[in-house]
Amino acid sequence: MNIVLLGSPGVGKGTYAKKLSEIYKIPQISTGDMFREAIKNKTKIGLKAKEYIDKGGLVPDNVTIGIVEERLKKDDCKNGFMLDGFPRTIAQADALSDIINIDKVLDFTASEEIIIDRLSGRRICKSCGTIYHIRNIIPKVKGVCDKCGGKVYQREDDKPESVKKRLDVYKKQTEPLIEYYTKKGILRSINADWPIEQVDNVIADARKALEE
Ligand code: AMP
Repeated sequence: MNIVLLGSPGVGKGTYAKKLSEIYKIPQISTGDMFREAIKNKTKIGLKAKEYIDKGGLVPDNVTIGIVEERLKKDDCKNGFMLDGFPRTIAQADALSDIINIDKVLDFTASEEIIIDRLSGRRICKSCGTIYHIRNIIPKVKGVCDKCGGKVYQREDDKPESVKKRLDVYKKQTEPLIEYYTKKGILRSINADWPIEQVDNVIADARKALEE
């Protein structure tokens, strides 16, 4: 199954995508993770993307579409995939539909209060991308990832100045995709307004929507 996950920054998409990709044994393709990896390796795309990401803006469509198109050609996508953070603009969605058919789109929703709390408290492992939160998902040793021993840090774009910009960008550029995919009849809305400890409720609803 070819799946797209939509939802505001901070709604928990990355966490749900990891769990769902394990359940359905299809790869999670996160453009944000791909850009962070490129930045870490100081590639040409990474250096270009960093200018936009740190300020909370979107990386230009042509760059983003190019990396997704390449990724979808890989063998592990043959039986399906889960796109996390792509598309984020109508132009990206149009380009995606020219590349491949999408079966289902899950739109995760949560209140603004929950979203801001998740974003500002989020911490992430620099090496493996595992997500933590300062209050409710705390690594056993401060600043050290439980899974790989990597450094746990706050993303530059999770700092307050960038968070506001990202939420504005989401409203203007990404929210129109809800109507876009609703019109195609493939969008399902999933309530993600649960405390983070109750992530299993969100996953259960997502599975129902995918298997209906
Ligand atoms: P994320 O980890 O999904 O929150 O993405 C982090 C940042 O990467 C975003 O704020 C954007 O700057 C950039 N990015 C990720 N996905 C896209 C996309 N589909 N289009 C443009 N920029 C993106």
